[in-house]
Amino acid sequence: MKLKLLCFTGFALFAALAAVAQPSKVRVVTTLTDLADLTRNVGGEYVQVRSLATGVEDTHGVPMKPSFVPLLNRADLVVLVGFDCEHAFLPALLEASRNPRIQPGHSGYVDCSRGVTPLDVPKSTDHSEGDVHPYGNPHYLLDPVLAKIAVQNICAALIAAAPEHAADFTRNRDAYLAQLDIKIAGWRAELAPFKGTKFVSYHEHWPYFAERFGLVYFGTIELKPGIDPTPRHIEELITTMKSEHVPLVVREPQFPEKVPALIAKETGAALVKLPIMPGGVPDTDNYIAEMEYIVNTMATALKKP
Ligand SMILES: [Zn+2]
Repeated sequence: MKLKLLCFTGFALFAALAAVAQPSKVRVVTTLTDLADLTRNVGGEYVQVRSLATGVEDTHGVPMKPSFVPLLNRADLVVLVGFDCEHAFLPALLEASRNPRIQPGHSGYVDCSRGVTPLDVPKSTDHSEGDVHPYGNPHYLLDPVLAKIAVQNICAALIAAAPEHAADFTRNRDAYLAQLDIKIAGWRAELAPFKGTKFVSYHEHWPYFAERFGLVYFGTIELKPGIDPTPRHIEELITTMKSEHVPLVVREPQFPEKVPALIAKETGAALVKLPIMPGGVPDTDNYIAEMEYIVNTMATALKKP
């Protein structure tokens, strides 16, 4: 009996010591998969990252699941795109989480748009007409140079959450940014022959990408961000695309193919399906793979006679 008790006490002591010795990881929840990948690259072994989106969703409307609430309740950080990109789902989830650390204005609320100058800021900032870009276009992560700002914001937040790992986070950040710089140079070279080429897409995802790589963003199939096209808008788009010789239509995975396919057929443009975050199409599991896929697919489509 005594031996048993001794064994049990010894085990309990060992378990307690192991719990103390086990370094706790920073628990991060990101809204989208690109932010999850960037966080993993900076945080390495010191973070535990979960993304609310899987990659195929609309960035403005990730369907809410009951599992998100306990996940956010335990989170040290919530990492988001900002510019109200997540307006339709994140504020309600944050409120339900009852986690004071990750509420807006607190150190655990990591808005990656800090330091990004938004494009296409409308005069009015309300959602009454259904416009989902009230503070300007939030899709800056499709420009890998601006994604570097997100990496810096994530790194600063991780250092604030776990200052004991500051040197690791800084080293990881610098290594990732150096890797990204090499890739960016390659992507610029690959798209250089298509400078000035016009393209359209379903949703207004691509102004930052177009500006970075010297392409011309001609217009969207949607009437306005978040507002379905009207027959008249589609007709006008087809007419202007024909007269301006627009050779490319981009369809994002969350939108049906029918209308983009019709527009491509009527205008003779190539139709490509491009992800807007990692996981949107197969073989795009991380941010660099996603951008690589986008650049390669565009370049291949534009090379065709
Ligand atoms: Zn949008």
